[in-house]
Amino acid sequence: LQEVSQVAPAVASRIVHELADQRTHLKLIASENFSSLNTQLAMGNLLTDKYSEGYPYHRFYAGCDNVDSIEALACEKACELFGADHAYVQPHSGADANLCAYWAILNAKIQVPALEEIGITNPSDLSRVQWDSVRAKLGNQRILGLDYYSGGHLTHGYRQNVSAQMFDAYSYSVDKETGLLDYDAIEKQAEEVKPLILLAGYSAYPRKINFKRMSEIAHKVGAVFMVDMAHFAGLVAGKVFTGEFEPVYWADVVTTTTHKTLRGPRGGMILCKEAYSESVDKGCPLVIGGPLPHVMAAKAVAFCEALDDSFKLYAQKIVENSKALAEACLAEGIPVATGGSDNHLMLLDVTSFGLNGRQAESALRECGVTLNRNALPFDPNGPWYTSGLRIGTPAVTTLGMGKEEMKEIASIIALVLKNTRPARITKGEKAGQASKAKTVTDPAVIKEAGER
Ligand code: PLP
Repeated sequence: LQEVSQVAPAVASRIVHELADQRTHLKLIASENFSSLNTQLAMGNLLTDKYSEGYPYHRFYAGCDNVDSIEALACEKACELFGADHAYVQPHSGADANLCAYWAILNAKIQVPALEEIGITNPSDLSRVQWDSVRAKLGNQRILGLDYYSGGHLTHGYRQNVSAQMFDAYSYSVDKETGLLDYDAIEKQAEEVKPLILLAGYSAYPRKINFKRMSEIAHKVGAVFMVDMAHFAGLVAGKVFTGEFEPVYWADVVTTTTHKTLRGPRGGMILCKEAYSESVDKGCPLVIGGPLPHVMAAKAVAFCEALDDSFKLYAQKIVENSKALAEACLAEGIPVATGGSDNHLMLLDVTSFGLNGRQAESALRECGVTLNRNALPFDPNGPWYTSGLRIGTPAVTTLGMGKEEMKEIASIIALVLKNTRPARITKGEKAGQASKAKTVTDPAVIKEAGER
């Protein structure tokens, strides 16, 4: 960092401050973790200087021998870790992985067969007019994914996301009473919608998913079954989700991030059955820009780490801690959506403390706890203010915390929520604005929580 500070002192200083921030605050953001030093070192080097469009041993640039070996190793380790037929490790993020997967499915399922039907074997021969007529004939394809307000991700067909421009987007919700997925209702909806893609996976659903059942629904209605395991990939790698709860066996295409429970570098990946491999490998340059060789190197390192038996123990502990924290929150009088958790995350309802999610989030941050607000299913406060908090255990589990610490964390959260109230509107502020965002917490509580 001394070198960096010679050129850009503000950057060097902020890196040091970020280290201090992550060491002095309790990290409960469900999508974050602490990557290993080896992963970080594999990422921070001269590999960033190389262009490598294409895929291993099939590039548009010269001099890719070393990147070929690194990327091929990352793919091999990913297949070994997840028992996948094929891996594609280039997506720069989870959102990129989803875009690449959608494009690959459209290419594999729609464009090629449809073109062959009208006698065109080489799509590059198509004139613009012919291309438009093929598209007009096919109409828009449908995607059916978990509603954003029930814990789905924006890229799963949220109306303002590009995914809803690529597809006619439909969504299923959780059950209003239980907050759980209702597979019979999803089956009925899938029969009506007849989607090209049935998508399972979430950013904020506290339970495991029966992927066997979802794949049966998909295949019954002729849909491709896709799973976005961005959040719980580490629980799959660590063999916590097995049998009907294991997505890679049941899905045609699986996307993921590599930086959440999987504890690798920030990035994305696609795993798929052989039938989709050729389409998936065309992600760069058809969808994404040049691969990031340094990040692919770090992905290879992280997959090697996750293949070690210790990672299985880590994954089990994440879930044990999540269950323990949810129970402890309930014991402290904090309502927990669905009554608990069987993955790495839970959703707390903070409205009984007279707060919205935004207020609770900022009060806890002031007291040394970093987490994020999250809408609860059918949330009257909407996605900005929200009624809930999303809490995850991947990062604190990496630090070695266990059930006792989970009780302590629940008691700190309860202490802060019980001693925080919305701030009064001050002169010049619009009614309803400031009070929805600002809070006042008892200063003695801020001190106590910080010390604990
Ligand atoms: N898919 C899911 C389920 C996610 O939760 C996220 C991010 O939180 C993404 C995709 C997008 O990942 P990224 O932020 O790496 O683009």
